[in-house]
Amino acid sequence: MNLKSERRGIHVDQSELLCKKGCGYYGNPAWQGFCSKCWREEYHKARQKQIQEDWELAERLQREEEEAYASSQSTQGAQSLTFSKFEEKKTNEKTRKVTTVKKFFTASSRTGAKKEIQEAKAPSPSINRQASIETDRVSKEFIEFLKTYHKPGQDIYKQCKLFLDTMNHKRDLSIEEQSECAQDFYQNVAEKLQTRWKVPPEKVEKAMDQIEKYIMTRQYKYVFCPETTDDEKKDLAVQKRIRALHWVTPQMLCVPVNEEIPEVSDMVVKAITDIIEMDSKRVPRDKLACITKCSKHIFNAIKITKNEPASADDFLPTLIYIVLKGNPPRLQSNIQYITRFCNPSRLMTGEDGYYFTNLCCAVAFIEKLDAQSLNLSQEDFDRFMTGQTSPKKQESDSFSPDVCLGVKQMYKNLDLLSQLNERQERIVTEAKKLEKDLIDWTDGITKEVQDIVEKYPLEIKPKNQALAAIDSENVENDKLPPPLQPQVYAG
Ligand SMILES: [Zn+2]
Repeated sequence: MNLKSERRGIHVDQSELLCKKGCGYYGNPAWQGFCSKCWREEYHKARQKQIQEDWELAERLQREEEEAYASSQSTQGAQSLTFSKFEEKKTNEKTRKVTTVKKFFTASSRTGAKKEIQEAKAPSPSINRQASIETDRVSKEFIEFLKTYHKPGQDIYKQCKLFLDTMNHKRDLSIEEQSECAQDFYQNVAEKLQTRWKVPPEKVEKAMDQIEKYIMTRQYKYVFCPETTDDEKKDLAVQKRIRALHWVTPQMLCVPVNEEIPEVSDMVVKAITDIIEMDSKRVPRDKLACITKCSKHIFNAIKITKNEPASADDFLPTLIYIVLKGNPPRLQSNIQYITRFCNPSRLMTGEDGYYFTNLCCAVAFIEKLDAQSLNLSQEDFDRFMTGQTSPKKQESDSFSPDVCLGVKQMYKNLDLLSQLNERQERIVTEAKKLEKDLIDWTDGITKEVQDIVEKYPLEIKPKNQALAAIDSENVENDKLPPPLQPQVYAG
C-alpha cells in the first residue's frame, strides 16, 4: 500500500511550513506565507506604496482644480456650464480622495459610531467583573515579578504603561495598524532588555512572557475579534464548513489513531478539550500553550496506536481530524489574534511556533478538503456533503467522527440486540413448527394404530383344546428311553 499517494491531499512538506522568503523561520497563511519579520517588511513596503499613491493622487487633484479654476476665469461665456461640471468632478474626486486617504491618516469620524456599538455589545456585568478581577491579579503578579528586576523593573513598567496609553488613543486605527504597534513594542522592549537594562539572556524570555501577559490581558477586549474586521464572519464560515464535514472518518483522512484502545481515546478527548480551551484564554501565549498541549496529546495517541514515534506526516491529518471533531469556537478569531498580538519571536521559532503553523495549515486544509484528499469518488463526496447519505449507511463499522465512544458502544449494543431479537424470533418459529410436528406425529401414530386395530380387530377366541392335547398326540412316547437318574460312584 502506497501511503504517500493515498495521502496526496493532506501531505505537507515540512519546508512548506517555513517562511517563503527562505529566512528559516515559520511562515503563516495570515502573513501570506511569510514569517512575522518578512511579512512586516512586505507590509511596510505595500503601505509606503499606498501612501505614495495617495499623495500623488492628492497632488494631481490639486493641479486639476487649479487648472479648472484658471480656465473658468478665462472663458466667462461658458462659465456656468464649465463651473457646474467642475463642481461635479470635484465632488466625485474628493469623495474618492477622502475614502482612500482617510484610511491612513484619520478615522476619527468613525469613533462615535464605534463607541455606541461597543457599548451595545458590552458583556454582562458579571463577566466584566470577573475579567477585571483577573486583570487586577495579573497586574499584581506583574509588579511582584518586576520587583525582582530592581531598577530596570520600574523602567519596564513605565514602558508598558506608555504603550497601553498610546493604544488607548489608537482605538480607531485599523487592527493591522494596532497589531503593528504591538509588534513594534515587543521588538523595542526586547532590545532594551538586552542592551539598555542589561538583563541576562536567560531572563529576557521570561520577562517578555510577563510583559505580554500584562499588556494583552488589558488589550484583549479591544482587539480580539474587533467589529472593524470580518473575523467573526470567518469564524462562522469555518464553523459551518466543519459541521458540513461531520461525516469524515479517521479512515478517510488516513489518521493513524485507533480509538478502540482506551488510552488512545483518552488522548483524543484530551486533545479536543485543549483545542477548545484555547478560546477561554486571554493571553496569546496561553492560547499557544493550549495548541501545544493538544499537539502533544495527538503525538501520544499516534505513538500508542503505532507502537512507534509519530512522524510529521501522521501529525497533520490527525490534527485536522481533532479540529473536525472538536469544532473549536472562534477558531479564525483566535488564530488572527495570536498572529497579530503574540510576541513574534514565539511564532517564528520553537515548539509553539511549529504547532501553531500546523494548526493554520490544518484550517487551510479543512477549507479546501475535497473528494481527492479524502480518497473518495466525486459522487460519494457530493452525496455526503449534501447529506443525501452518510458513510455510516454504507459501511456499518465506521461512525461519523463526532460520535463519542459511548454512543458508538450504544450503536454496537443496539445492533447486537436486533441480532438477538432476530434469532429469538427464529427460535420461536422453529419451536412452533416443532410443536406442530409433534402434534402431527402423535395424530399420525394414533391414526395408524386405529387403522391397524380396525383392520385386525382383537378377537377373543375360546380356549383351544388342540393345543392342550399336544402331548397326547405323541403316540410313540413309550418308545423313548427313560430319563437319566443321578448316580453316585464310589471312587
Ligand atoms: Zn521570513
